[in-house]
Amino acid sequence: MDTMNSDLLLKLRKTDLHLHLDGSVRPATLLELARQQGSGTTQLEAIFRAPPDGDLKAYLERFDIVLPLLQTRTALQRASREILEDCAANAAMYAEIRFCPLLHTRDGLPAEEVVEAALEGLAEGRQATGTQARLILCVLHGMDAGQADRIADLAIAYHRHGVVAVDLAGDEGRGFDLAPFRRAFGRAKAEGLHVTVHAGEAGPGENVAEAIETLGAERIGHGTRIFGDPKAVELAREHHVGIEVCLKSNVQTGAVAQLTDHPLRRMLAFGLAATLCTDNLTVSRTGLGEEWLLAARDLALTDAELGQILANGFAQMFMDDALEPLGSG
Ligand SMILES: [Zn+2]
Repeated sequence: MDTMNSDLLLKLRKTDLHLHLDGSVRPATLLELARQQGSGTTQLEAIFRAPPDGDLKAYLERFDIVLPLLQTRTALQRASREILEDCAANAAMYAEIRFCPLLHTRDGLPAEEVVEAALEGLAEGRQATGTQARLILCVLHGMDAGQADRIADLAIAYHRHGVVAVDLAGDEGRGFDLAPFRRAFGRAKAEGLHVTVHAGEAGPGENVAEAIETLGAERIGHGTRIFGDPKAVELAREHHVGIEVCLKSNVQTGAVAQLTDHPLRRMLAFGLAATLCTDNLTVSRTGLGEEWLLAARDLALTDAELGQILANGFAQMFMDDALEPLGSG
């Protein structure tokens, strides 16, 4: 691809539908937060190095370093605003940012305030950049039904203020028992919230089918192993399930052995609604522009394929209503 085409590709207005708040805080901000909170900065060094390819453990450990710094309203609000600014700088017209609010209550911040801080940061970012954003709340593998319910309650309470969906995240490799989450996801769905589920990344393609059938997933995070289960491919195609593809992250976590093994082109050929996302701006050391360049250059996708990805992103957005200001009930 020549420079002019790359330039055009970078300027295209896009969507980023899979982006974790805690994995996307600017390194300089993390450093400043660590200094302010007097927690020392030495353990932050890992954040400044790109994670090694194929090492899920090293990838996940980076989140343990970040989380203690994101336990205040100010830190969460600032991180959210800056992430949206960085999305806008990468030509994102619209972004869905996700996180698990219960991971930010360690120092006593009520979960409601955690969600409000993120929403306020996104509102500030939207005002500054014009880029629209919505929030997705994550339930994590290993949580019990009560915790999942708590997250569904928060999503329902803040639905009209900018929370659009619930997600199931965390370590898919530790087992894919969806039973504890069924009720919470069902309640969220009944209240008009959307559902996305991380599946077929560290686990088999069968997990994708299960996420669609059991939790009503309308989008799948990663789904790199979907072709291991023909039924999952069929279900995803039949129900127009969006596939949130994160190329760089998939190599770093070992979901694919190398970039050229990624099934993105095959997904498109099978009529799956794949779109390009970033996963974690800081932990993956990536940006939306970079992900698109990887698809165009390294995977050599055609203009028609790239156009399809772009259209899929806009078609798969969970945003459906105008926002009501916080505090309006
Ligand atoms: Zn993810």
